[in-house]
Amino acid sequence: MSTNTKYIFVTGGVTSSLGKGIISASLAKLLQARGYTVTIQKLDPYINVDPGTLNPYEHGECYVTDDGAETDLDLGHYERFLNVPTSQANNVTTGRIYQSVIEKERKGEFLGKTVQVIPHITDEIKNRIKQLGKTGKYQFVITEIGGTVGDIESLPYIEAVRQLKWELGHNDCLVIHLTLLPYLSTSGELKTKPTQHSVKLLLEYGVQPDVLVCRAEHAINKDIRRKIALFCNVAADAVIEALDASTIYEVPLLMEKEKLDVIVLKKLGFSIDGEPELTKWKSFLQRLHNPSNEVKIGLIGKYVELKDSYKSIAEAFIHAGVVNDCKVKLEWIHSESLTEENIKEKLKDLKGILVAPGFGNRGIDGKIAAIKYARENKIPFLGICLGMQCAVIEFARHVLGLKDAHSREMNPATNSPVIDLLEAQKNISHMGGTMRLGAYPCHVEEGTLAYNIYHSKDITERHRHRYEFNNDYTKEFKEAGMVLSGVNPDAGLVEIVEIPTHPFFIGVQFHPEYKSTVENPHPLFVGFVKASMAAR
Ligand code: GLN
Repeated sequence: MSTNTKYIFVTGGVTSSLGKGIISASLAKLLQARGYTVTIQKLDPYINVDPGTLNPYEHGECYVTDDGAETDLDLGHYERFLNVPTSQANNVTTGRIYQSVIEKERKGEFLGKTVQVIPHITDEIKNRIKQLGKTGKYQFVITEIGGTVGDIESLPYIEAVRQLKWELGHNDCLVIHLTLLPYLSTSGELKTKPTQHSVKLLLEYGVQPDVLVCRAEHAINKDIRRKIALFCNVAADAVIEALDASTIYEVPLLMEKEKLDVIVLKKLGFSIDGEPELTKWKSFLQRLHNPSNEVKIGLIGKYVELKDSYKSIAEAFIHAGVVNDCKVKLEWIHSESLTEENIKEKLKDLKGILVAPGFGNRGIDGKIAAIKYARENKIPFLGICLGMQCAVIEFARHVLGLKDAHSREMNPATNSPVIDLLEAQKNISHMGGTMRLGAYPCHVEEGTLAYNIYHSKDITERHRHRYEFNNDYTKEFKEAGMVLSGVNPDAGLVEIVEIPTHPFFIGVQFHPEYKSTVENPHPLFVGFVKASMAAR
């Protein structure tokens, strides 16, 4: 066995949305649970340089890493499963690949050569893949190729995989292809033809998959496995099933049962030693499936039609629910549907209210109305980013009496800009990658709710915003009873606000949801769920 970094590619066939991200994260979890170091990378075939400029309706949530990369939401799954931070290098798009190649061309680095998809774009892709291996930190790099085999956009990626497979050899490189076996209820059969076709397509591009993971609604019997193996040139024991799971956190166990980790390790020349150590993971699942309590919490936002828009928040509630032995029933409420008049009726069953992050004016009045209702009726409240900014606006309007208080984002002409643009943001014209992004330190004041939650004076949390609490108003807010309990020690920016006369009212400028994992549920969510359970 060589000691080189092993590269595992995960491609997808037949349809999109088969769950390549979860399969990748599950395999990584199994390898990690056997004591190996693993990282997962996502290659996205779209032309945007990153998903930061994409509307959440287009691509779901934009996930943010410690180093300030705006990334695909699959990186959130990687972190939640592995409990290891990802970085800019873990998500690469076609836009970024082309951007680097074109920059090099402008610098004259190609020495007069014609710049082409092969070799220049494919070389850049290969470099981005190998870059993670070269850090020396990982024994396995799992690279998930976005899109479906056959898409025009993903061709250069498949070609890069073909070249790498050839360069590295089968001891250091392996391809897992995820496909679908549709079930025809009229004949009661699982059909293999689409899988055969998608593997044929891969073969046409010169890539022989080593393992086939077949999504199916029903168990795949030995005969079907043998048939697929025969038609697709893979070993019969390397055709495995991925049945629909009740929760994504179940998938590592399903993959363990199918021996995905064993198949992969054997193919890469490892000897199999014992079982993956999944005691903690299993006890999390056990508690997830058997909660003693239930609590209804409202998630108020403007992208609620697409649940992926708030993926990390929804997952953070699952982690925090388990700690509290409680099932959190999230009620997704569109902020545009809320008015001062209907608020009581709409929110009356909720034990906790979360106002979500967001951009722009749409639905802002509903968010402010919901916060007023939570504040006045002493319902536990958590405001995240825009949700925190709205809590500040609501307090300014209804407690400080600043009737036209607003964020300059929504009303540039307001006389009371309690939320204003950061000085450093004023001259920025480009939208992409220019917000306050990534991990920043925050100093937490002792004796506050925030301190009670974190049990620490110094924390770091991830950010993604342009606007900030306007420190010109600090004195007025403090005097009226809003505590500014978390402040950035370098810039003096307010990061946490709270109202101590309320049982649980807290707004955070950062995004705690990005850091919640199965192993480390986020204390803010844990505290919020606990307070909601205690609410009348
Ligand atoms: N739109 C707000 C800002 O840019 C909040 C952003 C967010 O909620 N992520 O500051």
